[in-house]
Amino acid sequence: MRRLRKVKIVATLGPSSSSPEMVAKLFEAGADVFRINMSHTSHERLRELVGIIRWTEKRVGRPIGILVDLQGPKLRLGKFAEGAVMLEKGQTFVLDSNPEPGDKTRVHLPHPEILEALEPGHHLLLDDGKVRLVAESSTPTETVTRVLVGGRMSDRKGVSLPDTMIKTSAMTEKDHADLDAALDIGCEWIALSFVQRPEDIQEAKDIIGGRAAVMTKIEKPQAMTRLAEIIALSDAIMVARGDLGVELPLEKVPGMQKQMTRACRKAGKPVIVATQMLESMITQPMPTRAETSDVATAVFEGADAIMLSAESAAGSYPTEAVAMMDSIARSVESDPYYRGIIDAQRAEPEATGADAISAAARQIAETLDLSAIICWTFGGTTGRRAARERPRQSIIALTPNLDTSRRLTLTWGVHSVLTTDAYDLDDMVDRACDFAKAEGFAEPGDRVIVSAGVPLRQPGATNMLRIAFVNSEGKGADNERR
Ligand code: PGA
Ligand code: MN
Repeated sequence: MRRLRKVKIVATLGPSSSSPEMVAKLFEAGADVFRINMSHTSHERLRELVGIIRWTEKRVGRPIGILVDLQGPKLRLGKFAEGAVMLEKGQTFVLDSNPEPGDKTRVHLPHPEILEALEPGHHLLLDDGKVRLVAESSTPTETVTRVLVGGRMSDRKGVSLPDTMIKTSAMTEKDHADLDAALDIGCEWIALSFVQRPEDIQEAKDIIGGRAAVMTKIEKPQAMTRLAEIIALSDAIMVARGDLGVELPLEKVPGMQKQMTRACRKAGKPVIVATQMLESMITQPMPTRAETSDVATAVFEGADAIMLSAESAAGSYPTEAVAMMDSIARSVESDPYYRGIIDAQRAEPEATGADAISAAARQIAETLDLSAIICWTFGGTTGRRAARERPRQSIIALTPNLDTSRRLTLTWGVHSVLTTDAYDLDDMVDRACDFAKAEGFAEPGDRVIVSAGVPLRQPGATNMLRIAFVNSEGKGADNERR
């Protein structure tokens, strides 16, 4: 079973998509990685969903990635006595430390650290920026604000603070508990929300200790100011356009998406473009032209993955949304403009054996019009460096490491295969050819290129390239016929 595109699809699971049947349908429609959003998922449900995904993986015989997304320090208002109020432009509105239900004049802000950090002139964006306030005066127990943009405000709505550096750590008590549950049941990726600084990532990594890869969601303006360090510390980046577009002017987000996509491609770290990609498909079976174009833009830029949130989690057309992303991606990748745009952003190889080999493998594969680039990889680095070249050919990553096979489901152009260790170089080449044929990437008589490190399992040891024929048994023969 192979995908007919390079870009990967991440589908968020939720009420519309939690049954074993739906997970299987989403996989068949094209979902490569499933995201579980801990903002809306209990530990019991998390364990059920992981169980369903692992079961699906077994049934379909292909690695499937699981991304557990921690809520992070999402700030929320307290409750209102009447459930909701209308805030009028120009009125004052107080946020305070009093846990009593709120009214039209005040509400509880159950985060003492914000009341501490707020200063006159700081903006407060409520409910994804629908209502905007500016602080006029602030004490550690209450902040008096003026309403700049009014609207309806109800219980537990989100609060964003674009101007305020909050002292709290990036992980709340809930995040710690959710992280423990996720590591306990086992997942490949942990996403960190509302990261402000590299230290936030380090804090999470110290706990995770390599048991999962770390994806940093960029959704705070503060994170953009230290992007290079953040990418260096992260295993992947999510362009979290939802909250980013609340905390920064919306019109800044497209440029930042390009900046992040390019920086991640250069670093060879997977980058996901997320949020509202096919938003109208929550309620409609077809997307808007603008949404179609948005998905296409991410694919043209060479992002590793595109993501569905509510479209697959809570919408009426989850499978259609995945299938639509799949069709857009396939169409873009066969567009005559695609190659030129992708190649224009190709990063130079770094001075490492893995990069030199990856660049050479791509060139040889192009010059000789080979059918696939096959790499043996233990920790996944060789697979990711091969993907960094954004070759025309599919990359088959063979690995004896289950975790690696699943993590690579997020990486552009990589078809990962879990297999047993190879015992020598000939076995590596033979088995590479077997897989290329069995997985539908090569026909007998086609040639492929195989890269490997000898000895296997030694990180950074990729040191060998071999061009091989796929013969009718699928076995590799060296250049004997040419
Ligand atoms: P969320 O993150 O869906 O968890 O809010 C993505 C975003 O903010 O875009
Ligand atoms: Mn977010």
